Amino acid sequence: MSASLKAKIADVFDEPGCDKNQAKSEKERKKGCTKQLTPGAAAGGCAFDGAKIALQPIVDVAHLVHGPIACEGNSWDNRHSASSGSQIYRTGFTTDINELDVIYGGEKRLFKSIREIIEKYDPPAVFVYQTCVTALIGDDIEAVCKRAAEKFNKPVIPVNAPGFAGPKNLGNKLGAESVLDYVIGTQEPEFTTPYDINIIGEYNLVGELWQVKPLLDALGIRILSCIAGDGRYNEIATAHRAKANMMVCSKSMINVATKMQQRYGIPYFEGSFYGVADMSMTLREIARLLVEQGADPELKDRTEALIAAEEARAWERIRAYRERLAGKKVLLITGGVKSWSVVSALQEAGIEVVGTSVKKSTKEDKEKIKEIMGEGADAHMIDDMTPRQMYAMLRDAKADIMLSGGRSQFVALKARMPWMDINQERYYAFAGYEGMITMIAEIDKALSNPVWAQVREPAPWALSDSLLREQDAQQLAAEAATA
Ligand code: SF4
Repeated sequence: MSASLKAKIADVFDEPGCDKNQAKSEKERKKGCTKQLTPGAAAGGCAFDGAKIALQPIVDVAHLVHGPIACEGNSWDNRHSASSGSQIYRTGFTTDINELDVIYGGEKRLFKSIREIIEKYDPPAVFVYQTCVTALIGDDIEAVCKRAAEKFNKPVIPVNAPGFAGPKNLGNKLGAESVLDYVIGTQEPEFTTPYDINIIGEYNLVGELWQVKPLLDALGIRILSCIAGDGRYNEIATAHRAKANMMVCSKSMINVATKMQQRYGIPYFEGSFYGVADMSMTLREIARLLVEQGADPELKDRTEALIAAEEARAWERIRAYRERLAGKKVLLITGGVKSWSVVSALQEAGIEVVGTSVKKSTKEDKEKIKEIMGEGADAHMIDDMTPRQMYAMLRDAKADIMLSGGRSQFVALKARMPWMDINQERYYAFAGYEGMITMIAEIDKALSNPVWAQVREPAPWALSDSLLREQDAQQLAAEAATA
């Protein structure tokens, strides 16, 4: 591992915005936050994958993967991050290095690839991703990017997060470091307002940002840049002029928020767009921070008025499902804020949460679950559930539906029970007030789908088997009687 990458990883591990990290001694912090990798760990995503996931939603730049073509295949278009304009982010650019490049080095090929992209597509910037093989053969992507940027007069951004550096989470942060080092602060916005914010760590999956943007528009709050969902290079370059930053739920890009606070004095808060109460809390926090930074204090009153109107509308629409969903039981296998933020909406629709996984939840998340679920919440918190246990719970009808990520969908389907994707590969947008209503509507659709009655019927061959066995038994009994 190169010295610069080692230094960057050490820097990322010293994170003032993470309580867990700060509670460690300096020696422990140096060891990093991740467990020793085991064979197969990259199946959950390598560092390169994490960096690509974090930055690919910047929609108008070309994302060029310097490495074997399979690395690009690992990360290409695997999430439903939506764009309101340019589609270039969805094109899989790769240098596709071969044996000769491994022997002689792949830097020339990388330079030529950057030139070809600029000549053919002319994006506002090219992001170049390092991978294991090209890092191991010593290709210096920083130097090539610098040379290409000078030659073509265009930002060419190196993203130094080769897969072997660590897991996906580390890659998210290393990707964010590239944005901090090479993008933010390189341009000035045409104008600024006291209502400018950045949203960090939001990926606009299935267009979720667009469920939130109208609320901000109604309050006159401008999203100066979103890092990275539906992001534009030139907007992110001006992000340093925002008055406040919102860090969206997970800490995947916490380093952007903390470093922007250190470098540009922009305060940040951590919020979530999932769940009715959380959406309201987020709007309140944005208003509070902007007023503290000089916005007109009447913003707070307007925010309260908007929250009151939106909440009333959302609860009314969610309650409309009560009759259909009352008594239904849901098993929630997700993580972080979603382990509790969607619970109130489910409860309001009359659905009982029989279990929520807390494997990836923080201490605060667990406290929140206790607050929402009241007495007996402990019994519903599942630390780690094996697929076998999930299957047993569904088969024995202890839950009517499972909400989880795509990886556990087959457990539910094997138990012939409905399942709904609530994680990053989902096809429906669940953010903001509107998103919670969509979620309840989708649960209703999944539960009442007529396919379940059909798949629970015994298969025709199983029927004929049991019929044959019955006939055999009858014949044997008749033969025994006549003998
Ligand atoms: S960067 Fe390394 S670990 Fe990641 S996909 Fe490529 S070869 Fe595999």
